[in-house]
Amino acid sequence: MRSVRIVTTTRADGDLAGDPRPEPALAGAPRPWTWLRQVHGDRVVVVSRPGEHAGVEADAAVTATPGCTLAVRTADCAPVVLRGAHAVAVAHLGWRGVLAGLVARTADAMRELGAAPVAADLGPCIRSGCYEFDGPELDDLAARFGDGVRATTDGGRPALDLAAAVRVALAEQGVTDVRDGGVCTACDERWFSHRVRQDTGRLATLAWIER
Ligand SMILES: [Zn+2]
Repeated sequence: MRSVRIVTTTRADGDLAGDPRPEPALAGAPRPWTWLRQVHGDRVVVVSRPGEHAGVEADAAVTATPGCTLAVRTADCAPVVLRGAHAVAVAHLGWRGVLAGLVARTADAMRELGAAPVAADLGPCIRSGCYEFDGPELDDLAARFGDGVRATTDGGRPALDLAAAVRVALAEQGVTDVRDGGVCTACDERWFSHRVRQDTGRLATLAWIER
């Protein structure tokens, strides 16, 4: 079995927002990358050659082909990498995407390639201590993923535990082996935060199957 490589950039690697998207030399990630025009939706693209579907409107990509670098760009939303026997996927998951069923769509796309997801990596994202969130959207998320998504900020305000919602969505797909460094983009300045620091910069999470 070939191994999956995962790279999450930091502020030190530069701002990976912009159009055309920059593709710096990073840890041997093969180029061109498949980066997506992310819209907080539920569309998944299947990539079978390097750079395929680059710029397409989608929030997740999956491949079973070695050497195809999949990229999502984030600054508070959760970058998630799913791994199966011979496939890998990346997904850009904010609260809208989680609620839209993007985790299930991504897992389905992997199953169609014969490689159901068995493990996941949850990257740097805004954590509940920094993520004030309330109103009908929080009620919708709690109705869908359970009251475990309700949290409190460090300042005592209602909050969303986005990572908890992602973990429930992953568990529904049979994925309970989730690596999560617990990093918060909002209070750890190694990363970009759109919501708290109004950063326009984006970090990238890249994944590919080694050739
Ligand atoms: Zn924080």
